[in-house]
Amino acid sequence: MPAAPSRRPGAASPDARRPAANPWAVELRELGRRAGSMQELDRTVPAPDGWRLELVGVPEGAPVHLRLRLESVMEGVLVSGDVEVPVEGQCARCLEPVHDSLQLDVQELYAYPGSTTEATSEEDEVRLVEGERIDLEPMVRDTVVLALPLSPTCTDDCAGLCSGCGQRIDDLPADHSHELVDPRWAGLAGRLTTGAVTDRPDDPEEN
Ligand SMILES: [Zn+2]
Ligand SMILES: [Zn+2]
Repeated sequence: MPAAPSRRPGAASPDARRPAANPWAVELRELGRRAGSMQELDRTVPAPDGWRLELVGVPEGAPVHLRLRLESVMEGVLVSGDVEVPVEGQCARCLEPVHDSLQLDVQELYAYPGSTTEATSEEDEVRLVEGERIDLEPMVRDTVVLALPLSPTCTDDCAGLCSGCGQRIDDLPADHSHELVDPRWAGLAGRLTTGAVTDRPDDPEEN
């Protein structure tokens, strides 16, 4: 009979067995459940993938700065404060890169499971305290994505691209314009007219 493997189930280090800590999770042990207790949170966490619209978004891994206050209330934990994120995109008018940042106010109640708030809210309308911790990512993601501009612009008054040559109008001299008929085409237009006259077959009736 072979010897039992010497590795015991409890022998692995706790760190190796635990999944990588979620930087968006906040443990509530310190805050506790006594209504009125408060905790400040100042944390910079990497943005996950997918915070974007078609033309603009938060680059994956970009620093998201959270300055939040957690407040224990009867129904759960009230989170409020502000969030600052860098955004990168493309000008909707001239297609130049856009670099900007958003600073957004947030306020959200995370309800305790079994609280009146949870019982009286639709399932998808309430965020919950899950096992003595809250996950800030879905709340911050919703706030940021809602605030992203549908049509970002490189400057407030970007004039876009010249319809004649496709260059940025803001980079062109003020008197930039295009003749209605380009000189190169004017010559060709003349030849075509002449050709039409010359090539017209002689009227056989006149021979
Ligand atoms: Zn632009
Ligand atoms: Zn032009």
